[in-house]
Amino acid sequence: MSGIYLHIPFCKQACHYCDFHFTTSHRGKEDVLSAMLNEISMRSNETGNETIQTIYFGGGTPSLLSYDELMAFFEKIYTTFNVSHDAEITLEANPDDLSKEQLKMFRRTPVNRFSIGIQSFREEDLKMMNRAHSAEQAERCALDAADAGFENLSVDLIFGLPSLSFDAWKENVKMALALPITHISCYGLTIEPKTALAWQINKGMVKIPDDEIAAVQYQWLLDMAEDTGFPWYEISNFSKPGYESKHNTSYWKGLPYLGIGPSAHSYDGKVRSWNVSSNAMYVQALAENRREAETESLDVKERFHELVLTSLRVRNGLSTDDVREKFGDAVLGNLLETAGKYIECEWLIHRDRHLKLSQQGLLFADKITSDLFVI
Ligand code: SF4
Repeated sequence: MSGIYLHIPFCKQACHYCDFHFTTSHRGKEDVLSAMLNEISMRSNETGNETIQTIYFGGGTPSLLSYDELMAFFEKIYTTFNVSHDAEITLEANPDDLSKEQLKMFRRTPVNRFSIGIQSFREEDLKMMNRAHSAEQAERCALDAADAGFENLSVDLIFGLPSLSFDAWKENVKMALALPITHISCYGLTIEPKTALAWQINKGMVKIPDDEIAAVQYQWLLDMAEDTGFPWYEISNFSKPGYESKHNTSYWKGLPYLGIGPSAHSYDGKVRSWNVSSNAMYVQALAENRREAETESLDVKERFHELVLTSLRVRNGLSTDDVREKFGDAVLGNLLETAGKYIECEWLIHRDRHLKLSQQGLLFADKITSDLFVI
């Protein structure tokens, strides 16, 4: 078991593009957190005796947790599992929760990495997304976190926003890269059904984001990040060497992890499972000493698709030895034959017994990946 993910399903306000599981009502918070502690105990035997290398608080907004709430999780985790002394312990934080006072509090916990949801430094974009923080807080939070002694800081930005011109995007990236950070994640805006943003677009209140502009913004980001010492290591993730997210890397490598909390996903190496996306049902199930979750065993085809999908997203690419060993010579032959046209137009690189996306190929990752699903 490589890592533990804890889903904290509470937010201050609902960002218009978000389709994660969360609620802005904090009435049931105590019950959910206490059920999560119970879930950790209930599933303690699922990790074998393996050492936990990473702990990741995601959500939702884990930076809303108080010192006591956070420490209750650490106490439970450290008394239940064998946690590595140098475990990467990440907490997703929103800029408005990283006041100097709060940062002092976080310093007294084992958290050693923040993933900060800045998304944009521009008031106009933040309003469009209905983010809870201001542009001023976006600019200050990483500086204050570094001053408080946090050395491993990641920030998130979003490109492809309808309100974001190419020049404004360049400015956002430059501002982020000038901060004392080790890692940056950049995601293109996606319009998820049933979100406020999808509704606003349907009503004509917000422009449909332009894919071509988003592609230009992403392409520029790749060059800029590389030139400033943050080469891409996963399609949406860039870091200084040695600061790649260990937790997320374990997902892309297909390593097992335990997901705690409503809607959290787990993987034990063979079976995926995901907890119910309802706080009330989650709490009720744990009160009855059971887990309300769905499971899925991957068949050969699904395991192959997953390997192609996750491996092509990372810079090291897809190992052809791995494909041969797990799926046989015939599948590898089909894969290389289908890959041929992309190798020819230089969207894929076939080198050192790996298939890798070129910088141009990154723009067409979805299409290339689905074409390579040869079984
Ligand atoms: S803070 Fe994060 S989880 Fe909460 S609504 Fe916004 S994007 Fe979604």
